Amino acid sequence: MSASSAAAGATAAAAASPGGAGRYAPSPSGDLHLGNLRTAVLAWVLARRSGRAFRLRVEDLDRVREGAEQRQLEDLAALGLDWDGENVHQSARAAAYEAAIAELTARDLLFECYCTRREILEAPSAPHAPPGAYPGTCRDLSPAEREQGRARMRELRREPALRLRADVDSWRVRDLWAGEVTGPVDDLVLRRGDGVVAYNLAVVVDDAAAGVDQVCRADDLLSSAPRQAHLAQLLGLPEPEYAHVPLAVNVEGARLAKRDGAVTLRDRLERGESAAAVVDRIGASLGLVGCRSAGDVLERWDPAALPREPWVVELPS
Ligand code: GLU
Repeated sequence: MSASSAAAGATAAAAASPGGAGRYAPSPSGDLHLGNLRTAVLAWVLARRSGRAFRLRVEDLDRVREGAEQRQLEDLAALGLDWDGENVHQSARAAAYEAAIAELTARDLLFECYCTRREILEAPSAPHAPPGAYPGTCRDLSPAEREQGRARMRELRREPALRLRADVDSWRVRDLWAGEVTGPVDDLVLRRGDGVVAYNLAVVVDDAAAGVDQVCRADDLLSSAPRQAHLAQLLGLPEPEYAHVPLAVNVEGARLAKRDGAVTLRDRLERGESAAAVVDRIGASLGLVGCRSAGDVLERWDPAALPREPWVVELPS
């Protein structure tokens, strides 16, 4: 697929939802906790408020827990969310990812990387490079060096990773709450050594194909947005607007997790709380009193008033 036909594919989907689309894209690795549910509600509200479609995508390229997807969908519906069209599964989208990889390869924008994680961590980094940035080891190897690298990969029973030959070192995105954000773009991995397409590429290809022009998600991914937007631009795809929601944390300030107790909708229901009471908690975190379903948040929430600090979740044990 060429960049223009990749873009045409995205345009065709966008045409199906002329007002654009928002989305929620959970990984089916377990039940959604209150922070995940709050982000989902806000993504839905932002989309519906602005007349966008709302799409669900199951990000199942990695860890999948049996039954988790069905449970997540039931939980979202229990809070009052609805969505448009079929759920997209990343595991069924290999052809679209390979088309994007072929397109970038044809333009000499990818290179094979034979480094192990350890070698990358231990390599001296370029001056001014952000911590953990790829040091460029395999970017300009000779054909003979590449052959050596491939032979080594065969020994390690791994594929070479495919990296973007980035020609910028930063990119600017617009976030509804964070404003203009400029962040680093490095030679990011687009296909991993285990042969699985990287999250950053999958997200870009999938959002564009679904006509998604508004990406609302947790703000641990804000630093990935410049890389993703740059990738979209390289593929001739529209760059979405972003809306990154502060994370939910426990009382110690650590990211909310299962070990924090009864943090999922199911846990709350088991403790005798209703789904409406859980929406009420989410509403309260936004300064709203008495919300009983996502529809109430849709009617009453002012996005400009989103607290910018993490949501400290305090639950009765
Ligand atoms: N699948 C990711 C998660 O569950 C979200 C990725 C995204 O929204 O771009 O954290």
